[in-house]
Amino acid sequence: MKYTSVSEKLKQQFGTKVYRLSLSTGCTCPNRDGTKGYGGCTFCSEGGSGEFAADVLPVSQQIEQAKLLVDRKFPKQIRPQDRKYIAYFQSFSNTYGDIRKLRNMFMEAIEREEIVILDIATRPDCISEECLDMLKELNAVKPVWIELGLQTMHDETAEAFHRGYRTIEFEQCFRRLQDAGIEVIVHLILGLPGETEEMMLESVRYVNRLKPSGIKLHLLQILKGTVMAEQFRRDPWPIMSLEEYCSLIIKCLDNLSEDIVIHRLTGDGPKSQLIEPAWCADKKHVLNTLNRMVAQAERTKL
Ligand code: SF4
Repeated sequence: MKYTSVSEKLKQQFGTKVYRLSLSTGCTCPNRDGTKGYGGCTFCSEGGSGEFAADVLPVSQQIEQAKLLVDRKFPKQIRPQDRKYIAYFQSFSNTYGDIRKLRNMFMEAIEREEIVILDIATRPDCISEECLDMLKELNAVKPVWIELGLQTMHDETAEAFHRGYRTIEFEQCFRRLQDAGIEVIVHLILGLPGETEEMMLESVRYVNRLKPSGIKLHLLQILKGTVMAEQFRRDPWPIMSLEEYCSLIIKCLDNLSEDIVIHRLTGDGPKSQLIEPAWCADKKHVLNTLNRMVAQAERTKL
């Protein structure tokens, strides 16, 4: 049950707090533009995932703007020149585009001294051989993290929410990245319609066997304007309570090796778009309850 959070891991590695800067490549997603499908995964909110922007600002300018948002989180004693950041390309599939152009954008980020990690969110079907070569090249300059949204190991659930690739495709991509020495962070969603607790734990155990460097456990959030919101309106399904969610997280942690860094234990969708679970709008309460229940479970095990 003992686990390492990403903030602890970063502190050990860099001796200081490190914050993510949210940046954009302007790429869209093959599951939205018609290559794999239209409309994307049924829970994906256009606004929530960030809008596709063909003319994004130059990366250095984005970095300066993003720093203004996170700099107030740094303890006062850390001088501006000592602050360290992760360049996090989060929205949509950030390797779905012209590789030369993407290489230039990523390079522009990691050539800056204050950027210590390049973190790229993408899909397994967006990692071509050319892309893998680029990632290896970038990884030789600064550590590269690739975030892959598996969400579930169960293909029948994935088909229902229109993931657009099978678990075997994810696994093949995962292994290519791992063999190339690139750290992979796998995302799972807890609470997908039709999934039992055992199915969710099977996904956790599956990810654990793959030994990724990190995992993000997301709470499913039903957001306004999504296909899932409409499905939920027509035919609602049971929603986990906060206590049920926290107990499930404890079981998930019990099924994960201590070496796998925990990057996230909740959802973080936009409050203004949230339909269910209503309780997750109060993030502070969620985190306090989660920390309390996890600490309690740890004590019981001692
Ligand atoms: S892969 Fe990601 S960006 Fe693309 S539709 Fe699914 S959730 Fe949205």
